[in-house]
Amino acid sequence: MKESCEGTIIHGNHRGDEGKGRITDEEAATHDIVARFGGGQNAGHTVSTGEHELSLHILPSGIAHEGKMNVIGNGCVIDPVGAMDELEQVEASGISIGLDNLRISSAAHLVLPHMISQDEIRDAGPNGQGSTKRGIAQTYAAKHMRTGKRVEDINHSRDELVEAAREGLLRQADERKQAGLEPLDVDREIERFIAAAIEIGRYSTDTPLLLNRLLSEGENILAEGAQAYSLDIDHGMYPFTTSSGTSALAAPQGLGVPAKHFSRIIGVAKLTQSHVGGGPFVTEICDKELAEQVRGPEGEIDSEFGKSTGRPRRVGHLDIPSLRRSQITSGDTETAVTKLDLVKRYGEMVAICVSYEMNGDTLDVAPSSAMKLAKCTPIYEHLPVWQDDIEDIREYEKLPVEAKSYIEFIEELTGIPITAIGVGYQRDQIIRRRQNT
Ligand code: GDP
Repeated sequence: MKESCEGTIIHGNHRGDEGKGRITDEEAATHDIVARFGGGQNAGHTVSTGEHELSLHILPSGIAHEGKMNVIGNGCVIDPVGAMDELEQVEASGISIGLDNLRISSAAHLVLPHMISQDEIRDAGPNGQGSTKRGIAQTYAAKHMRTGKRVEDINHSRDELVEAAREGLLRQADERKQAGLEPLDVDREIERFIAAAIEIGRYSTDTPLLLNRLLSEGENILAEGAQAYSLDIDHGMYPFTTSSGTSALAAPQGLGVPAKHFSRIIGVAKLTQSHVGGGPFVTEICDKELAEQVRGPEGEIDSEFGKSTGRPRRVGHLDIPSLRRSQITSGDTETAVTKLDLVKRYGEMVAICVSYEMNGDTLDVAPSSAMKLAKCTPIYEHLPVWQDDIEDIREYEKLPVEAKSYIEFIEELTGIPITAIGVGYQRDQIIRRRQNT
């Protein structure tokens, strides 16, 4: 049953892996449409339905709900081979996928096989940035160079698409060799790519028109962000960013839906901060033992190891100046926090960075410039940590007093109400909280 007709944007407030998937999954229940507005299969969301753990990379999290229209928007890029694998995995878990619950923008760009190969070559060389090797940057580069191929090409100019893929792969044969990478079987790669692309082409739709029609009929939309604010190509810590807009600002553009349709903007903040790859990390934990403790045991679903890469993540303390910047720029109306259950990993006291010191100045809001961030040092306040298990608590009032003080301290520092609190990764392990309770 729908509670309201408000459109909602969910985005990550930090550096990715905040737990947006589970918050989106929960919010999906009260929305008719769930739409991804940017990024590609470099993002990973985990949705625990109780029966299954769905690892979603390009499919919107609404796919786990019956009767929702899921849209991969024009701002996304899509690798047909990976997308078909994902579709098959989701279908194998008993969820059926068809035109009634999935549409892909005809204007979304395709990740061609040679773009993935280019990514591998780049990552093997001195300019590697710890990429997920999914060809995302190469695809967005081609989009902006206006040489890219779009989902519409699958159905309307397939011969040119095949030609572009073949030419791209042949062009790279020497570079792969020089980078010490295995040669690719060009015919096999093309065959796999086209077979998957034809399947993907079935879902090709003029999604801005579809979405605006559904909205005019009274349906509501949930825009699902991938990655997070610090990785935004414009607002993040360039060049340690991804290749697309990841903040709430990118949702209208990446879907072709006017901003007036979104009145709720939920920023997801993770209480155990982490980061994959290079770049400044002001609140990074340098103590190896504490870092390992905060990261958690490898192989556990909620431990800090990359979902797409398997790499151990850098971990840190909660960074309020950075959170404030994300909230201000995206216009957050509420915050959903995840992993309150894991704050215990910090020990008896938890450090919260409340401001930065940079060249003798105190900054309450983080700079976005990676150069400036590298010059910032954190100013911490410390709060006591509760030791009781909180995984089974569903009412805010029942949380230990230290946990409530911790939540209210963050709320006070940011001025944004915390309306949802994750206390475990399972679907129902969440405390819903109304404003000003
Ligand atoms: P996303 O990239 O922001 O969508 O991040 P994911 O949805 O993949 O979430 C990262 C990990 O955190 C997943 O393994 C989730 O199951 C887990 N997770 C999310 N919320 C919580 C929480 O409140 N507590 C715990 N322990 N794990 C959580």
